[in-house]
Amino acid sequence: MQPRKILVVDDSKLIHKMFEVLLRQYSLVHAYDGLEALENLGRHAEIDLILLDINMPRMSGLEFLNQVKANASFEAIPVVIISTEGKEEDTIRGLEAGAAAYIKKPFGNQELLEVIQRL
Ligand SMILES: [Mg+2]
Repeated sequence: MQPRKILVVDDSKLIHKMFEVLLRQYSLVHAYDGLEALENLGRHAEIDLILLDINMPRMSGLEFLNQVKANASFEAIPVVIISTEGKEEDTIRGLEAGAAAYIKKPFGNQELLEVIQRL
């Protein structure tokens, strides 16, 4: 069986490295802002889940999420927002925009794995 594919969207290289270690059983596709993530979605039709940062250059996580939810080909892909603590408004707006779940930074590895497995 092919490993499930996760699109990681975050401008922090450290987060990408962390996810590489933590999510070894998944196949990861990397993007560093919303625009790059949209390009990746177009190229990898079989993305199973998206892990999404909010604050990023060029296109923010919320803008990206709105575009995903407005596109019939992508709207069913579950999106998990990885939010920085103290940015509750972003989280609420993200859930309103159709995110399936949110995880606060700093997060526990177990918490992240559970949310991913559930979705
Ligand atoms: Mg960021």
